[in-house]
Amino acid sequence: IVSRVTHPAGSVIKIRGIPLGGEQIQIIGGPCSVETPEQMALAAQGVFDAGCSMMRGGAFKPRTSPYAFQGLGVQGLEYLKEAAGRYNLPIVTELMDVRMLDTFMEYDVDVIQIGARNMQNFDLLKEVGRVNKPIILKRGLSATISEWLMAAEYIAAGGNHNIIFCERGIRTFETAYRNVLDVTAIPVLKKETHLPVIVDPSHAGGKAWMVPALAQAAVAAGADGILVEMHPNPCEAWCDADQALSPDELKSLVTTLGAIARAV
Ligand code: PEP
Ligand code: MN
Repeated sequence: IVSRVTHPAGSVIKIRGIPLGGEQIQIIGGPCSVETPEQMALAAQGVFDAGCSMMRGGAFKPRTSPYAFQGLGVQGLEYLKEAAGRYNLPIVTELMDVRMLDTFMEYDVDVIQIGARNMQNFDLLKEVGRVNKPIILKRGLSATISEWLMAAEYIAAGGNHNIIFCERGIRTFETAYRNVLDVTAIPVLKKETHLPVIVDPSHAGGKAWMVPALAQAAVAAGADGILVEMHPNPCEAWCDADQALSPDELKSLVTTLGAIARAV
């Protein structure tokens, strides 16, 4: 179903009327995690002022340590929806557990994110294949392109064809940055599938100063959009502080990316 053979023209996924996969690129900005109503109010303002079309924010966080902040849970969905709603920005947030899917539907989450660590959580994939919400499927930490395509096929097989691939960097021998952004995956996926491909430069680089270069490369290589972390006060972020852009940095990045998208 996800193969371009079945659908030679690219698919455009509409998210509350916003087209992803068409002529325009879409930028999804926001914090790694939802923290407080004040943080979310400033973040939403920054996302909107920068010209992003959607807002991200994690309420359920897949943390390496069980003792690290795990996200606010349902309270976080509440804060995200409230802050983004003020600017009419669709919301993107990660679902980790099938038991929360009904809650995500009740909160009318616009785009459900499946994180890298759950790319091959087949039961989770089957469940999100049964809803009518667009799904961002992040690439697993060391997943091949064919494993990633097959993971998407699990979602599509259930009837939900609104799938967005998100390259977020892969594990290699290199330790100088968090992950290696696989730019090659962009043209390869665009050839293999009709579905949109976006890139998360934040989890790839792991450092805010690397984010613009990676995002620019992604758009130049044909990405349909960018998922990027921004915090109103990066140094104080509860999660992924090193890679968060400031609102001003996000704004200038969005301007640059628009110019690159028009040029390619
Ligand atoms: C995230 O986007 O918040 C996240 C946890 O990313 P990943 O699943 O790519 O590590
Ligand atoms: Mn993060």
